[in-house]
Amino acid sequence: MIHSHSYIHSNDKENAFYQDAYSKTKKQTYQEEDIQPRNDWTINDFEIGKPLGCGKFGKVYMARERRTKFIVALKVLDKKQLIKEKMLNQLLREVEIQTNLRHKHILRMYGHFFDDRKVYLILEYAGRGEMYKLLIEKKRFTEKTTAFFMASMANALLYCHSKNVIHRDIKPENLLLGYTHDIKISDFGWSVHASSRRTTLCGTLDYLPPEMVQKTHYDNTVDLWCLGVLMYEFLVGQPPFMADDKQATFRRITNIDIHFPDHVSENAKDLIKRLLTKRPQDRIPLSELSKHPFFHCLDKKNQ
Ligand code: AMP
Repeated sequence: MIHSHSYIHSNDKENAFYQDAYSKTKKQTYQEEDIQPRNDWTINDFEIGKPLGCGKFGKVYMARERRTKFIVALKVLDKKQLIKEKMLNQLLREVEIQTNLRHKHILRMYGHFFDDRKVYLILEYAGRGEMYKLLIEKKRFTEKTTAFFMASMANALLYCHSKNVIHRDIKPENLLLGYTHDIKISDFGWSVHASSRRTTLCGTLDYLPPEMVQKTHYDNTVDLWCLGVLMYEFLVGQPPFMADDKQATFRRITNIDIHFPDHVSENAKDLIKRLLTKRPQDRIPLSELSKHPFFHCLDKKNQ
């Protein structure tokens, strides 16, 4: 638990904190100068606000850096549990990768620090929370909304790949939303620096590409497959290869057994099929994605 002295208690104080926080985060976009890179952070540098959510290894709180009043999300993880589940190395890899990425659609990690019992990650605050919740609320997205999100995703992944980073775990649960509903890719827990071609089986079952199901080599084109699954889930409300058990899902993935409801347009179907190809090298490259006719729905003249 966080030191009680740094938690905001009184109602008036709390309201003032949130009012200030909300107006600040709306303005606070890319003012990196507001929170300078440091390697000597401690919990005393932050005022802790409301809990934003719970993850497997700990809690996430809204927080404000005392000196600059910069609003962040502070992820507080239990060291013992990380060590017990042998996740500390994966976390350190996530930290290293995410701290070095700078893109408006990738959740910034400003820094991290430890104390005896906890690991703290200082993260960009995503004002609209989880993409997953928005999708559940809306059931499915329109083609225009999907195109808006897909364009941002393609842009962010192009940037990751240019830095030799493969995300490997793209899915709605790992996407957060900023105040203006701009996507923030988070959770780089599975991501790797692509120095060599790899064979580790990871990621989420519904989003696994055939080459990972078959445990053959894979490269950054796994993210293109996941983008195809994500686009389907955005438009339909559930992923394309759902089945009753693991083996059946694997079978559907390897056979690319995909069905589209009637409301999905021909352009959308075509783009999904161009991302969900068995041969990784046949997937439409990220650099060509935005030229696909599916994105014409974003053109001004079509609005
Ligand atoms: P996680 O441990 O990353 O799964 O985070 C647990 C929950 O905290 C998420 O499901 C979000 O609701 C919330 N959360 C995590 N990071 C942020 C953030 N940077 N900004 C806002 N909410 C967050």
